Amino acid sequence: MTALQTRTDAEVERSTQALREAGTQLLLGSVTDLAGVTRGKYVPLDRVPAFHRSGMGASPSWSVFCVDSGIAFTPELGVVGDLRIRVDPTQARPVEDGVAWAPGEFYEQDGTPSSMCTRGALARQAARAADLGLSVLVGAELECTVLAPDGSHSTTSPWSPYSVRTSLAHAGLLREVTARFAAAGLPIEQLHDEYGHDQLELSLPPLPPVEAADAVVLARILLSRAAESQGLRISFSPVPFAGEAGNGAHLHLSLADEEGPLLAGGDGPHGMREAGQHAVAGLVDSLPELLALHAGSVLSPVRLQPGNWAGAAACWGLENREAAVRLLGATQGNPHGANVELKVVDPSTNPYLAVATMLGAALDGIEEKTELPAEVTDAPDGATLPPLPTTQRDALAALDGSARARRLLGDGIVGGVLAVRTYEADTFGERPVADVAEALRLAWTC
Ligand code: GLU
Ligand code: MG
Repeated sequence: MTALQTRTDAEVERSTQALREAGTQLLLGSVTDLAGVTRGKYVPLDRVPAFHRSGMGASPSWSVFCVDSGIAFTPELGVVGDLRIRVDPTQARPVEDGVAWAPGEFYEQDGTPSSMCTRGALARQAARAADLGLSVLVGAELECTVLAPDGSHSTTSPWSPYSVRTSLAHAGLLREVTARFAAAGLPIEQLHDEYGHDQLELSLPPLPPVEAADAVVLARILLSRAAESQGLRISFSPVPFAGEAGNGAHLHLSLADEEGPLLAGGDGPHGMREAGQHAVAGLVDSLPELLALHAGSVLSPVRLQPGNWAGAAACWGLENREAAVRLLGATQGNPHGANVELKVVDPSTNPYLAVATMLGAALDGIEEKTELPAEVTDAPDGATLPPLPTTQRDALAALDGSARARRLLGDGIVGGVLAVRTYEADTFGERPVADVAEALRLAWTC
């Protein structure tokens, strides 16, 4: 049961009234599909209770819409049938003048949860953690690239990473982003110019798993709209321009039981407790088979290369930015406490699936007492590490054969992901990267 299903009529009515008093005219309810694209439907405010209780219709093929508007129909996901998108109005936030957004979930017409619902899949992993007596926090980083309206770079003077000059050139955008996040009640942890030309990064604070994935969707909407209001665009492509820095969507995970954090206060490496070591081991162990859910698009392998700080090596290490799993210790400089960062994730992934599988793999490690492999303390030596798939098709083959992915997410979601990503491989896989980067530059923008 997700929180959405437990909302009472009175709660829904109160939320609707609050939206009305704030001048809202329309509620946008969104779902993010298996290619990582967020899609939605709108209702005027008097239809909000119906959007929550009965939902608005969507063909099952919504799950297999592709990055370029193609549809990767499967025998199960076709033109016949109907799903309902239901929203949680208690989570609504303003995103534009008169428009609020709320997260949505897929249901069958009879009101039972759909097996294709990625928010529901994440809620199941969150409930599993709670059943194990664990509390979970997830913090998301959003890297993106600011564009001119025609999709080219938004600034033409030479770029300088993290520079005051280049960041102040975007001061109007940064101000707009800050105002919109404040209006939406979504705190910004930090904001800065990144390594790539016109690349921006915004970090969100740690939140419970479902709220964390919702916050990624909301943040993508707010960033995209802030840019548009300044006559700019935002790209959430893993590779907006061939040969330039890629965009990551790193996720931080911390776990605690009633005795405290699992990744600190123990006698294991860097103070990890035994369960914390198993959680990290589970994450590392799962990487090859789950890569297609973390960085599964046709452009993802172009970003996921050694030297890009994208975590292209299947290993873990304290503060190691080339390791797929980077451990951050409990120090004064880290007020949120010890956590692990999954660096392989990029913004072409569905954030609900990325968080669900990251958490699921950590919980598998705890339950199965997976043994922690040796730490990698330097730039990883690919020759001695368990390899990650290096092509999209290899990542898809590993996912196809993954009993773990099917257990964590169900056959429906795994089959849908395989369908949309295979479509990408067939449609774009043989084309030059520069063409594909251009074609998909705005594919994940909200
Ligand atoms: N842009 C890099 C990536 O694609 C990450 C750089 C960093 O460590 O922040 O993941
Ligand atoms: Mg970064």
